[in-house]
Amino acid sequence: MRIRKEIQVSGIVQGVGFRPYVFRLATDRHLSGSIRNTSAGVTIEIQGPANEVEDFLAQLPAEAPALARITQVTTREIPCIGDAEFRIVSSIMGETVRALISPDVAICDDCLRELFDPADRRYLYPFINCTNCGPRFTIIQSIPYDRSRTSMAVFPMCEECRREYEDPKNRRFHTQPNACWKCGPQLELWDTGGRRVACSDPVTKAVMRLRIGDVIAIKGLGGFHLAVDATNSSGVELLRRRKGRAEKPFAVMVPDLEAARTFCEIDGAGKEALISQYRPIVLLPRRSGTTITDAVAPFQRDIGIFLPYTPAHYLLFAAGNFSALVMTSANLSEEPISIDNREAVTRLAGIADGFLVHNRQILLRCDDSVVKPMAGRVRQFRRSRGYVPGPVELHKDVPTILAVGAELKNTICLTRGRSAFLSQHIGDLENLESFEFFREAVEHLQTILEIHPQIIAHDLHPDYLSTKWALAQTGVRLAGVQHHHAHIASCMAENGLEGRVIGFALDGTGYGADSTVWGGEALIAGYSRFERAGHIEYLPLPGGAKAIREPWRMGISYLAHTFGQEALGLGITFIHKVARGKFEMILRMMKQQVNSPLTSSCGRLFDGVAAVIGIREDVSYEAQAAMEMEAAALAAPASAGAYPFSLVREDGSWQIGVRPLFEAIIEDLRRKTTVEVISARFHNGLVEILARLAEHLREESSLGRVCLSGGTFQNGYLLSNLIRRLEEREFEVFTHAKVPAGDGGLCLGQALIAAHAAGN
Ligand code: ZN
Ligand code: ZN
Ligand code: FE
Repeated sequence: MRIRKEIQVSGIVQGVGFRPYVFRLATDRHLSGSIRNTSAGVTIEIQGPANEVEDFLAQLPAEAPALARITQVTTREIPCIGDAEFRIVSSIMGETVRALISPDVAICDDCLRELFDPADRRYLYPFINCTNCGPRFTIIQSIPYDRSRTSMAVFPMCEECRREYEDPKNRRFHTQPNACWKCGPQLELWDTGGRRVACSDPVTKAVMRLRIGDVIAIKGLGGFHLAVDATNSSGVELLRRRKGRAEKPFAVMVPDLEAARTFCEIDGAGKEALISQYRPIVLLPRRSGTTITDAVAPFQRDIGIFLPYTPAHYLLFAAGNFSALVMTSANLSEEPISIDNREAVTRLAGIADGFLVHNRQILLRCDDSVVKPMAGRVRQFRRSRGYVPGPVELHKDVPTILAVGAELKNTICLTRGRSAFLSQHIGDLENLESFEFFREAVEHLQTILEIHPQIIAHDLHPDYLSTKWALAQTGVRLAGVQHHHAHIASCMAENGLEGRVIGFALDGTGYGADSTVWGGEALIAGYSRFERAGHIEYLPLPGGAKAIREPWRMGISYLAHTFGQEALGLGITFIHKVARGKFEMILRMMKQQVNSPLTSSCGRLFDGVAAVIGIREDVSYEAQAAMEMEAAALAAPASAGAYPFSLVREDGSWQIGVRPLFEAIIEDLRRKTTVEVISARFHNGLVEILARLAEHLREESSLGRVCLSGGTFQNGYLLSNLIRRLEEREFEVFTHAKVPAGDGGLCLGQALIAAHAAGN
């Protein structure tokens, strides 16, 4: 019996070689019918003997191309017609736009082979790509995904490219960015004035400049990088000076896995992440005595390493034989990464010595992603290029919501059905440029996903630009969400949890429900509500935001809290060298409550300890003190012991007290205990007190599930040890991996909480 079926497939099925795949699947079985891209995904009609059609249906998801991600398949029987072959028909616009757009994909092995094959017509062509690789998200204007709606629209295909594009058996069948030397985008080297440098090969020319320690701005997939030879210390220091970036680590690109192994210790999870098609920056323990200069990541144990992901990257390494290149986002401090050639020349004046540019427009900027293997899993620190706009799958349907995140490391989230679409890394919304990018990202994500939110979720902080933007929107419902509640909800959502959990939300700053600065919080939380079950005791933050850049202020705050005036006589280096002249002034500020808001922040506790023990009195980037504390703790012997904290129940919640901690630290400093051991004891003490608190909360609430969220859990030493300790005590522990534990993952929690407030 012959039958005909109509099959709707949704998910990431456009621009990933899905139609040629289906074409082959059908023609191998001598089935007739058609396939076409729709705004919802693809629609297939298939006709033939019933058993062959069923077999086709069974194979369809099973053997789908590597980049395809099928979220739904629906079928219905339709009347047979008289067609004899299987055809691919051109796109039509459907009424609902549901197709998912693929993230940008690193060059595939087939293209890489062709790139270095002198016999291939794309030999050394910097924009080689195919259905399995190349740019996607960053070149798309709108959907359905067709060349005319991408920044490739201005490059008409040559005859040969067109033939590949139209041949269903070709690897480049309907590859929208398909191009070659003859018809596609080209590289050029520009001087600091934006003038084209006359040369036959811009790559070789750029390589010569890099060799002598010049800083070259290189236009890539999601934006410009600033590149400099990572083994050239004066080059790297020059870049630091010019960029005004004193100590924040630079990411380093290495030619291959072998090179990565010479610089870092790489375990299984780290290797998988490095070589994956996403090509994130992977934070890995650095080996000592390598040729990479220390100036790349001063005072850090880890170094951010990644492999080339565009053909041009491979060409640079092949021509230059570099063992490692610094490849850092081309921007000024925390401004968005540059994407436009002319804009880059202006903005990077005085930083770059030359520009390796191309004429394929980047329509949306997208920074490199950053991951770190911790406690057995690869965890997102910055989920961006390669992952976005792939959805985070939810365990249930939610309404359409826009969640606008917090202020630092901002990302936004749009939800539809069971999918949460997180944006690329937008950055710190503290300057106009970032805020512009925020607005662009909101617009663009809504356009390509065709999601028009009914609800906007935002942080409670009245001064965040994201909050202000949300409050200015009309015709939508608004949902204000407490920061740490959102962290815990984000962790719950990522792990598909319902009901209530014990949540530890540890971070630097979040607007508290009592208008103080929270950040060391124990919550009993579900999506619909939370209760603050405990927190680190309140201390004044002398100088407010200033204290975040100057940890010595918190050092004085904790010492004054623990020892009062006697702190001056403690006889420790911190008092002699740093605090003596400022102690009275800070004390007065706190007593008179001048610019000294109360905080329960865990990030500030790390700062305070780091300052007192001499690891760091000032920081030049966010979380620097905590990262250096972690590095110190990791260098300590395994059984260093743990400092005491106090734990008392007061006014209906648990207070974690720091007096015993600082008394013990001072004692150790007098005994000349090393900072490594002190740091380990501090981490271990924190683990112990959190585990004890979890026990109390389990007793009170009968809850046995613990969620860990907030930026502090990007500390691998703390995370691994707390997971282990809680599991020993038979808690079920849930953590972040798919979205960042820090504020980069906050929008997901905001969205889920807003969904519940709306009655889901
Ligand atoms: Zn390819
Ligand atoms: Zn061509
Ligand atoms: Fe936070």
